[in-house]
Amino acid sequence: MALSGIQIYKLLPQTNCKECGFPTCLAFAMKLAAKQVELSACPYVSDESKKQLAESAAPPIRLITLKAGSEVKAGNEVVMFRHEKTFYNKPGLFIRVKASDPDLAKKVAAADAYKVNYVGMDFSIDGFAVEADGDLTSAVKTIRTVTKRPLILMTKDATLLDSALSLLAGESALIYAAESSDYEPLADLAKKHKAALAVKADSLDALADLTQKIQAKGVEDMVLDSAAATLSASLTRNTQLRKLALKNVRSLGYPIIAFPCDAKDEGIAAAQAIAKYAGFVVLSEFKPELLYPLFVLRENIYTDPQKPIQVQPGIYEINAPNPESPVLVTTNFSITYFSVANEVEGSGLPAWLVVTDAEGMSVLTAWAAGKFDAERIAKAIKGFDLASKVGKKQIVLPGHVAVLSGELEEELPGWDIRVGPREAVDLPAFMKQALN
Ligand code: SF4
Repeated sequence: MALSGIQIYKLLPQTNCKECGFPTCLAFAMKLAAKQVELSACPYVSDESKKQLAESAAPPIRLITLKAGSEVKAGNEVVMFRHEKTFYNKPGLFIRVKASDPDLAKKVAAADAYKVNYVGMDFSIDGFAVEADGDLTSAVKTIRTVTKRPLILMTKDATLLDSALSLLAGESALIYAAESSDYEPLADLAKKHKAALAVKADSLDALADLTQKIQAKGVEDMVLDSAAATLSASLTRNTQLRKLALKNVRSLGYPIIAFPCDAKDEGIAAAQAIAKYAGFVVLSEFKPELLYPLFVLRENIYTDPQKPIQVQPGIYEINAPNPESPVLVTTNFSITYFSVANEVEGSGLPAWLVVTDAEGMSVLTAWAAGKFDAERIAKAIKGFDLASKVGKKQIVLPGHVAVLSGELEEELPGWDIRVGPREAVDLPAFMKQALN
């Protein structure tokens, strides 16, 4: 059972030395109870207390990392709903491939090369799930000639697995999947090769029973498959799994794996898995038209609502501007930046785009919060030394903050301050007609 803040406090040194970054041991204990800090932040906890605190300090859902040339993490989640705090580790999207496929290398290479940009972020797939319907060892060798992404190995054949896992020394793969009838050899292999082990059962009681047996064999890193055959069943079981894990039912405190590839409507099943509460999602094949919306959905669910998506403040050159090109000003809220940059770029007109540090807020919000005012804009213009790049010294303010133009003139004597349109979509016409 998790300990309360007061129970944790009783196990701390109670010297209030502040070395953990908190003013008192009690404050640290409260944060530890809320799982917002690591126990290791206090250097003075006794070994005896550490032992007692270990359970309380551990996250309710174990962090599982699949690792090769890149990493995929799942687990460490602490809430049911994102608005309660945030979700931490985006589910990894894996493409299922067959060991027997004569075009294996070609298909893996195509999926591996896929990269798509969404409001300044690059997305790509996370790994491959290899179905051992042929020579698994050869398939793993082939895959490793074209990608270093993490692998899920789908077979129950211990001999095949042993050989394939030997090729992946230094990596952390996932073995899929142990069931009550065959878990022992697979658990032995997971332990031997330091791999994670997926555990499959068709009821939560059976899953909990199996994870305890596997843990008793020395395997800590597990992933759960609740073997739900319908959308309704997967929603119910995954939700129950998350709830029970957050109630510190340790035998169910592991990330979930989902197989939308086996569903009648893969897109809907994948969307459900991302939303509720899969850590690893296996898709049937490489389909960019499915991956792109899934990336966007995943990003929207796993973006911290307390931290707006931001771009780096600075000067952005659009369409090769010259000293006579106008200077446009906006904030570093990602969507605001891309709205402006895309409109100007699409128009073919050259411009300098100055992006100020408004803590990731949009123009109006930043202005209302005092993060986008004349003083800050002038500071950015001077800080980025824009005067050395332009001869015309013409600045275009967003129309929503026309009220700043007078103050900005005072802050930047010698600059021609213009008020642009309110909406980015009107910028090209404004630049053509009003700027000369
Ligand atoms: S470092 Fe440890 S002893 Fe010092 S205030 Fe923090 S919890 Fe207390």
